[in-house]
Amino acid sequence: MAIRGIIFDMDGTITKSNVNFAAINREAEVPDEPILEYIETVGEPRKKTILAVLEKYEARAAETSELREGVREVLDYMKKKGLKAALLTRNSRRSVQTILRRHGLKFDAILTRDDAPPKPSPYPVLLLSKKLGVKPEELLVVGDFHFDILAGKAAGAKTALLIQDCPSEKETHSADFCLDSLSDIISIIEKGA
Ligand SMILES: [Mg+2]
Repeated sequence: MAIRGIIFDMDGTITKSNVNFAAINREAEVPDEPILEYIETVGEPRKKTILAVLEKYEARAAETSELREGVREVLDYMKKKGLKAALLTRNSRRSVQTILRRHGLKFDAILTRDDAPPKPSPYPVLLLSKKLGVKPEELLVVGDFHFDILAGKAAGAKTALLIQDCPSEKETHSADFCLDSLSDIISIIEKGA
C-alpha cells in the first residue's frame, strides 16, 4: 500500500540531537532511564522539580537547534506530492514552537507530550492518523529511537529507523526501513513502499 503520510520524530530526526539527557539526569538526580516514564513513578513536588530541569534543557536545545540534512527537501517533496506530514515528539509544545519558528517549518498536525501519551504508546500515532485522515497502514513513522519504531508498529503503521550504517535487524528493532539519511524517504515513496 502506498504511503500517504509521514509522522516524523523531532529530536534527532528533524533536528540534530542536542538535548543533553546525561546532564539532565545528573542535575535532576534521576537514574539513567527514559525520563518521562521515571517522572510518572515519583510524587510531587519531586515531579515538578524534575520537569523544570527537563524543560530548562529542552528550551536551551530548541533555541540552538539545527536541522538535519534533507529535512526541507523531504518536506518540499511531500508537499508537491500531496502527502501529509506530522510531527510527534516526547518533547514539550513550547520547544516544538521554538523549533518550528526558528526554522520556518510547518506540519499538517503536531502532537507533543503535552497533548497525548508519549511514544512508545501507539495512541498518538492513531490520533494523528485520524487528524490527517490517513489510515495507519498508509503512514510511515520515522525516528531515530526504538520508541519511534515500537509506537509505529503497534499502531499498524510502516516504520523507518534513521541510523548511520544500517545495522542488523535486531538493532533496527525490526523497522520496515533503515535510513542513512532523511532523503532516503523519497525513494521509499517513489517505490510505492
Ligand atoms: Mg528522537
